[in-house]
Amino acid sequence: MRFSKTFIKTYKESPKEAETQSHKLMLRAGMIKQVSRGNYTYLPLGLKVLKKIEKIAREELDKAGAIELLMPIMQPADLWKESGRWNAYGPELMRFKDRNQRDFVLGPTHEEIVTYLFRELIKSYKELPINFYQIQTKFRDEIRPRFGLMRGREFIMKDGYSFHLTKESLDKEYLNMKQAYCNIFNRCGLNFRPVEADTGSIGGAESHEFMVLASAGEDDILYSDTTDYAANVEKATSKIELVMPEEEKKEKELVETPNVTTIDELEKYLNISKKKIVKAVLFKEVLEDKTNYYMAIIRSDLDVNDIKVKNAFNLNVELELVTDEDIQKLGICKGYMGALKDFNKDVKVVMDESVKYLYNFVVGANEENYHYTNVNLEDLRYDVVADVRKARAGDMSPIGDGVLKMARGIEVGHIFKLGDKYSKAMNAKVLDETGKLQTVIMGCYGIGISRVAAAAVEQNNDENGIIWPLSIAPYEVDIIATNMKNEDIVKVSEQVYKLLKDENIDVIYDDRNEKAGFKFKDADLIGFPIKIIIGNKASEGIVELKTRDGKVVEEVKIDNLTNIIKYYRMNL
Ligand code: ATP
Ligand code: MG
Repeated sequence: MRFSKTFIKTYKESPKEAETQSHKLMLRAGMIKQVSRGNYTYLPLGLKVLKKIEKIAREELDKAGAIELLMPIMQPADLWKESGRWNAYGPELMRFKDRNQRDFVLGPTHEEIVTYLFRELIKSYKELPINFYQIQTKFRDEIRPRFGLMRGREFIMKDGYSFHLTKESLDKEYLNMKQAYCNIFNRCGLNFRPVEADTGSIGGAESHEFMVLASAGEDDILYSDTTDYAANVEKATSKIELVMPEEEKKEKELVETPNVTTIDELEKYLNISKKKIVKAVLFKEVLEDKTNYYMAIIRSDLDVNDIKVKNAFNLNVELELVTDEDIQKLGICKGYMGALKDFNKDVKVVMDESVKYLYNFVVGANEENYHYTNVNLEDLRYDVVADVRKARAGDMSPIGDGVLKMARGIEVGHIFKLGDKYSKAMNAKVLDETGKLQTVIMGCYGIGISRVAAAAVEQNNDENGIIWPLSIAPYEVDIIATNMKNEDIVKVSEQVYKLLKDENIDVIYDDRNEKAGFKFKDADLIGFPIKIIIGNKASEGIVELKTRDGKVVEEVKIDNLTNIIKYYRMNL
């Protein structure tokens, strides 16, 4: 491509609204243009990057045996009512009516459509397992669209869905996809890690997120410094020492603790370790027609993980912390809550495992200015016991063979064993070997194609601009004619351009009537991995090759050029 014949507009200044490097640089390099919040035009350079990521994804998925199709973006609400998501999916779901007043949605994912398709078209176990995928625009009315392509409302996703008769078959395909995803992200040049992820209320099923390690990431991940263990903080567990105490149990005792409402104050006032105080954290689940309340109790030197609380009660909605107003409405005494037998029955209580290993501990007395000391398990009221503890950096890894460290991650992919959630609700069955109808089980697999582009920029940039991994760069090579008025330079530039094109190297030729310095600045901002600079030695058949990462600067004979570029293609 000739620079003058495509459409590239670059900018010196960072737009004010952009916070992250990838957002700033993709705007400045003329890759994207915002239309409305979280809603972008992919300009020619940006589109080329997306196409390359898509190509890599297609190659690896096809190799792994997945089958490409394309489902509609517009989806009838009836299918969403069948799956139960018409009600369960919040305001992120874009709903609209057609001219006949029938409800539709713009697909945020395609479980409903693919399950419908399966139900209509596949009748026998002989056609299983099968894995369908597509690459398509998705729509989610995100509450906080931000960071450019990182969190859009309209974005490009690769989504895939597999169908199985047995758990073993799903397990096998899950591993197959996990490997394919690793191949895809490796080929995109990303530094990433698969991490264990929360499976929500489906429970039991397995899920991994693929996290690109970058400070702009919106997720916290914990990973072991010596082993493969890595998990989203939402899901992470760690090992802490839990041993039954040796002391005798005592009778509980009411003690006055005037104005002592925090754990730190209580620790000082009673001169007692935080490990012998049990704290209580209240949450609410806000549903359309009502609000439910939940309390977690835990050793007070530990923190509560709200996602684990949500899972302990099998809830579908994210929990929120309560407000003073909620506390007043419940008639609970703020700062003195305790899950004692007489505690408000409208609040369900989950007890963290850590409490099981305590004798003679302190809890709030549900009365202003009072706590109980020497409380024991039999004095408490709780509905469930579960691990609701938030793992922290510095904790031991779950099997105790390393220390957990914290990092920020950008979720670029997600694989999930769905089980029968959709197939059961939507009646997707096949005849098994004995002629009996059986509900199938499913896996689902997603990649944020447009988010991958942003994540790659986030990981690969410097003060001058983007440093694209070669495999997904908009062009692999930028030929810079340093002086368009010099006949030799133009002649050799044209010659090199033809040479590289003939060798199927993805090349752009900066043929603009501009100063060399201007062209260099654009090249660095856009981030072409290799620059071929055609200067004064052009007439001697010599050009300069520079890599964007600054590692290589060398003079090269034109005759050797394609071989050298092919070498870097393998190694950049
Ligand atoms: P997040 O927690 O970031 O909102 P998610 O769990 O909602 O992601 P999935 O439903 O698993 O995402 O979607 C599959 C993939 O699509 C994600 O791994 C991510 O890479 C991408 N993705 C999800 N939401 C967006 C978005 N708003 N903009 C760009 N990519 C997205
Ligand atoms: Mg989301």
